[in-house]
Amino acid sequence: MKVKADLDLCQGHGMCEDTAPEVFRVVESDDGSYPHVELVLADPDEALREKVEEAVRFCPNRALSIEA
Ligand code: SF4
Repeated sequence: MKVKADLDLCQGHGMCEDTAPEVFRVVESDDGSYPHVELVLADPDEALREKVEEAVRFCPNRALSIEA
């Protein structure tokens, strides 16, 4: 499955990392302005689909999506 994160929408709440740390990690911005999500795995195994779907659903900024 392909996972996408829209960094224009992400505000670094970190719910995704709490839900699926195998796939998402929250890091500081280069300019130190605010944290944002980074994909640890952009193409995670199907075994992680349930967790990724949960992270997509619970992202407060709707910044995450599954492409396929
Ligand atoms: S839950 Fe959404 S807003 Fe928060 S860090 Fe993850 S992608 Fe960004």
